Amino acid sequence: MASHSSISLEDPVFSYSQFACIGSGFSAIALGATLQRWYGITDIRFFEKQSQLGGTWHINQYPGCACDIPSALYSLSFECNPNWTRVLPTYAELWEYINGVARKYDLVDKMTFGAAVERCVWIEDKGRWRMWIRQKQTGQVIVHECQFLYGAVGFFDQPRELEIPGAERFQGPMFHSARWRHDVDLTGKRVVVFGNGCTGSQIVPAIVDKTTSLTQVVRSKHWVYPPIDEKVPLWLMFTLANVPGTMQLQRFLMFIKMEVEFIGFWDGKFAKAFRKKRQRQVEAYMRAVAPEKYHDLLIPDFEVGCKRRIFDSGYLKSLHNEHLRLTDEPVEEILPHGLKMKSGEIIEADVIVMANGFKTNEFFLDCDIVGRGGETIHEHWKSFGGAEAYTCESLSGFPNFFLLGGPNVATGHTSFLIAVENAINYSLRIIEPLLKGKGSVAEVKRKAEEKYVQSLHHALQDTVFSTGCSSWYNRTVDGKKPWNASAYPWSQAHHWYSCLFPSWKDWRLSGQTEKNKIVKQSHTLTRLLTLTAFTLGMVFWSRRNPNTVLASLLAQPRTILPWLAGAAVKSGTEAFAVIRGTWS
Ligand SMILES: Cc1cc2nc3c(=O)[nH]c(=O)nc-3n(C[C@H](O)[C@H](O)[C@H](O)COP(=O)(O)OP(=O)(O)OC[C@H]3O[C@@H](n4cnc5c(N)ncnc54)[C@H](O)[C@@H]3O)c2cc1C
Repeated sequence: MASHSSISLEDPVFSYSQFACIGSGFSAIALGATLQRWYGITDIRFFEKQSQLGGTWHINQYPGCACDIPSALYSLSFECNPNWTRVLPTYAELWEYINGVARKYDLVDKMTFGAAVERCVWIEDKGRWRMWIRQKQTGQVIVHECQFLYGAVGFFDQPRELEIPGAERFQGPMFHSARWRHDVDLTGKRVVVFGNGCTGSQIVPAIVDKTTSLTQVVRSKHWVYPPIDEKVPLWLMFTLANVPGTMQLQRFLMFIKMEVEFIGFWDGKFAKAFRKKRQRQVEAYMRAVAPEKYHDLLIPDFEVGCKRRIFDSGYLKSLHNEHLRLTDEPVEEILPHGLKMKSGEIIEADVIVMANGFKTNEFFLDCDIVGRGGETIHEHWKSFGGAEAYTCESLSGFPNFFLLGGPNVATGHTSFLIAVENAINYSLRIIEPLLKGKGSVAEVKRKAEEKYVQSLHHALQDTVFSTGCSSWYNRTVDGKKPWNASAYPWSQAHHWYSCLFPSWKDWRLSGQTEKNKIVKQSHTLTRLLTLTAFTLGMVFWSRRNPNTVLASLLAQPRTILPWLAGAAVKSGTEAFAVIRGTWS
């Protein structure tokens, strides 16, 4: 956790925006665009600690880096793209797409880069979030306030360390896949790659031919599915670009196809039979393509789906390369020029690449969010046993705060972006009354959050994620009881439906911001002044025109008095409520 010794509640506030978002990845950009599309709201600021927008697709630039969900679905529903060149495009193409969406909605000017959000505190009497943001280049801290705070900090923000002694002594370049050193040329080098998950299995085929030797050190096994990537044919690109509705149809069919795969994630006879069938197909593929000598190292004994699927991008074939070696022997120590294995063997290396993944199941490791009554987000999560959120995005005691891509939003079978869009739409439905001036604070109730989390974790017990493998979905944090803060146990159709119809009884909408209070006070004052002026005007006019019908009506106390009394009582009550601050 960052040190907050240099920041204080007394720090002067530099700026205000109605909305503020931590991060500038897919989730943040989808939020900015949706706010405009739905409500025409442009009053939002994004704070991003990296030097560029794009999140995952700016941070991960390793050779072979690409998505593993078809781009027709791994893109935003309201910005379908006919120009994807591949089914699984590279990070560069994905970044171009995100950048294009950000520019189309004029979001880039609203972003501050190199700005690490270190602390956000709910200021009760203002009904606002106050944010302390450190500018990485100067070290200066700026203070920003907003009414609605969104945390779009991603699932894979913090690379994992390598738990092998001696790393500091290694004399060559040693870097994590998410910190790829483009200045390091791997041509003719002896390279060691740690890890064989989604990332490791993309890097190896992309670099193996450059190296003189490549040793891949693995600790676990993965189901490697047959490839799904290929070039998008020109006729299809042409059709998608020119025939209205085809992109949406393609996306819909893709969505259905992926949702059918979700059957394999359930418990029960049918799901097990579904998995067995998949397992047989995948195992046959792995045995046919990978070298026989590595079958025991590669083929898992756990069920398919328990860990994230890997779609082969040339990995299994690359294992035939004669200067590639795959080993699961434990590494005892990192030496200045290589590795010392448990057997005592020394493996010489010029470059070490860590494709060992990220710290998962934990969020906001470098930023503190402090809610109502001074409770921090980490204290809040401790009281639940781990990171969690109501509908994967809201926490009681943290008003007007939403997590995008938050706890349990990941799926094993479909696009993360569908879940993110659902979350955005849900939060905007919740705050819609506030945007229309009916209150200014939205907060989920603790009881509702507890109930939701209980049912989610109960449902997780009945999924493939709980069938015994160790994966990033359920990695334990600090040796604590396993807590799956990653996977969503239900289908995305379920997520979409539950986000479409919020359960309003789980929410409390109330309060007032300073701005609203002033607006409402001035409304009340205007109403009282108008009423007084109107009444005086009428009296004055009827005195000057005593013989008119209106004057004789007004002269009847029974006509005018009830109306005047009703208006006075209503205005008086409102004025009293506004002054006491109880308007909701
Ligand atoms: C290599 C890789 C491949 C993936 N492939 C797929 C795929 O094929 N399909 C799929 O569905 N998902 C995939 N994912 C998951 C992917 O992360 C999400 O799909 C999606 O891109 C997440 O977007 P996001 O905006 O929520 O988070 P991110 O893209 O992670 O962006 C979060 C941003 O927040 C910033 N940030 C964090 N903390 C702070 C702070 N304190 N102050 C300021 N800024 C901060 C980060 O710098 C980052 O830019 C992949 C992930 C990785 C790492």
